[in-house]
Amino acid sequence: MKNKIEILAPAGDMKALVGAIYGGCDAVYFGTDVFNARIRATNFTLEEAEKAIALAHAHGVKVYITLNTCLYERELTKMLGYVVKLHNMGTDAFIVADFGVASLIKKHYPSIELHASTQCTVHNLDGLEYLYKTLGYSRVVLARELDKENIKYISKNAPCETEMFVHGAHCMSVSGQCLMSYALGGRSGNRGECAQPCRLPYTIDGKTSYPLSLKDMTLSNHITEIIDSGVTSLKIEGRMKGESYVSGVVSIWKRLINEKRNASKLEIKTLGELFSRQGFTDGYFIKDINSSMLGVRTDKDKSASNEIITDETALNKPSVNMIAELYEGQRAKLTVELLEKRAVAYGDIVEKAINAPISEEDIKKSLSKLGNTPLSLGKIKVLKSDDIMVRVSSLNNLRRTAIASLLSSNSQLEIKEYEGQALPRVQKIKTSTFVDENQIPKNSDYFDVIFVPLEKYTGKSNGVHMPPVVFDSEWGEIDYLLKSAKEKGAKWALISNIGQIERVKRYEFNILLDYRFNAFNRPCVDYLMKTGAKGLVLSPELNLAQARDFKSYSMVVYGKLPLMTTHKCILKDTVGCDKCKGYMNDRQGAKFFARGIYGHRNIIYNSVPIYMADKQSDINDFSYHFIFSDESRDECYEIIESYKNKKAKNGDFRRVK
Ligand SMILES: [Zn+2]
Repeated sequence: MKNKIEILAPAGDMKALVGAIYGGCDAVYFGTDVFNARIRATNFTLEEAEKAIALAHAHGVKVYITLNTCLYERELTKMLGYVVKLHNMGTDAFIVADFGVASLIKKHYPSIELHASTQCTVHNLDGLEYLYKTLGYSRVVLARELDKENIKYISKNAPCETEMFVHGAHCMSVSGQCLMSYALGGRSGNRGECAQPCRLPYTIDGKTSYPLSLKDMTLSNHITEIIDSGVTSLKIEGRMKGESYVSGVVSIWKRLINEKRNASKLEIKTLGELFSRQGFTDGYFIKDINSSMLGVRTDKDKSASNEIITDETALNKPSVNMIAELYEGQRAKLTVELLEKRAVAYGDIVEKAINAPISEEDIKKSLSKLGNTPLSLGKIKVLKSDDIMVRVSSLNNLRRTAIASLLSSNSQLEIKEYEGQALPRVQKIKTSTFVDENQIPKNSDYFDVIFVPLEKYTGKSNGVHMPPVVFDSEWGEIDYLLKSAKEKGAKWALISNIGQIERVKRYEFNILLDYRFNAFNRPCVDYLMKTGAKGLVLSPELNLAQARDFKSYSMVVYGKLPLMTTHKCILKDTVGCDKCKGYMNDRQGAKFFARGIYGHRNIIYNSVPIYMADKQSDINDFSYHFIFSDESRDECYEIIESYKNKKAKNGDFRRVK
């Protein structure tokens, strides 16, 4: 498997699917009208999906269905039914983000193949291995921020396949770690509703620009490095884009991989004409991370559009060969062959004709009716006894069954209900994160555990906060920091993603899992608690009614939510990296605090805090988790006093409702 590189194309609708096949892709991915991360894309209904899968398979193209949103508890039964239907239609794999969804599917249907979405935030080999070991993913989609050395390290050592993005739009935030669209307008990126606030202008230090809008990526100048990296699948982004884009981009990429060469100037120009935002970037891949990575879609970009029209007639109908065996006293048998695939169907017992026997010509006529399939007839051979009788309806059934199993070789599974999930109770505690130790006020004994960033820890509290992102190339330093924090008295670690669990366990910390795990449902919490963690911070996207399933677990009850974790520093060209701390204003004047963190990444916080001091009757079933960001030590002191005394607050704030 690892020697053949797959070109994986987006298919937002039937036309784009045709474009992708026409362009020469090896596999496509698309969503249907529920449970996928591009709700605004046209998407397929289940009925259309069936047709799409048949068309793709007729051309030897694999189909992966995106199921890459976080699901609420009440959606899980529907999800299982949906997965089974799509599996039975022939889906080759599901791209899944939610650990609860993945564990439910694996529990009920171990044979279904799963790919871990880029939303799972896999930046290192530990993360990939953990997912492979615990959920049996056959493939992991790597984070888009990784550079070539780290991609190669993971792929060469991975026990399963890896997939990387090679072309298309970039998110500013680390995937699966963006709350911006949710927090600013209620449209959750983790639920597939992203409104792309990153494409808007913002002002930093008096300068207005587009500090969060990245150019589209193309790695078409790194073909040999990609081939040598050990990656199985090359993903092209663009489920919102049309057939011209898809067929154009796919055909160029196919050519480059086949010919093992970089794109020519003309090919880069063509790619740009298909879609770009002021050209392309390869900044993350080559570790050249600076403001040249930024870009927006200009009128010039739009006018360059390069229309390549493809419709279904552009595709030849692949021809299927048939052998019918109709022997008296035996079941009718039809063998069909397409490319390297073969399927066999059996029908009724063939009987001797009483008066008019069926002719070979009539048999061929019935079997060759492929009108509503994406196939045409190749060779047909009929082997039969003399003077037999076979009903036309029986021949039609035989043909339909054989063609269906040719286009979907999946075993037919039965829909099972989600039966609910009991959760372990956890000990109720109060925890908080501070950005550094100087911020910790003297009434901080309100908290059972205080986390400060691992890289700033000197022993003044009992917990360390793992950086949100750790590449394999950074483990040396992080290991050293973990070891020395342990020696200085840290007992707890707040961890950010699945790739940090095994490492932190080695140092025997008590583990609290951060909200960054996007825990939305009980199977997800159950799966995550099996890591041996002492607790978990629920997704701040859950409302009070939804959180009721998770009593005793931690809820963010105070603080400005981190909206984005960025791999590129947004402050570099404005306030400068010696400070690496500043404010970003939007057009409405909201002020977002941003600061540098480990690895010269940034966290951008919301402009208003969550505040629940005077609403504690709503939240006292939960563990409390506070997030302090740009508050001074005195302000932190006052906030803690407010929670002790259930005080109301003036000014802007958000509620957990
Ligand atoms: Zn910086």
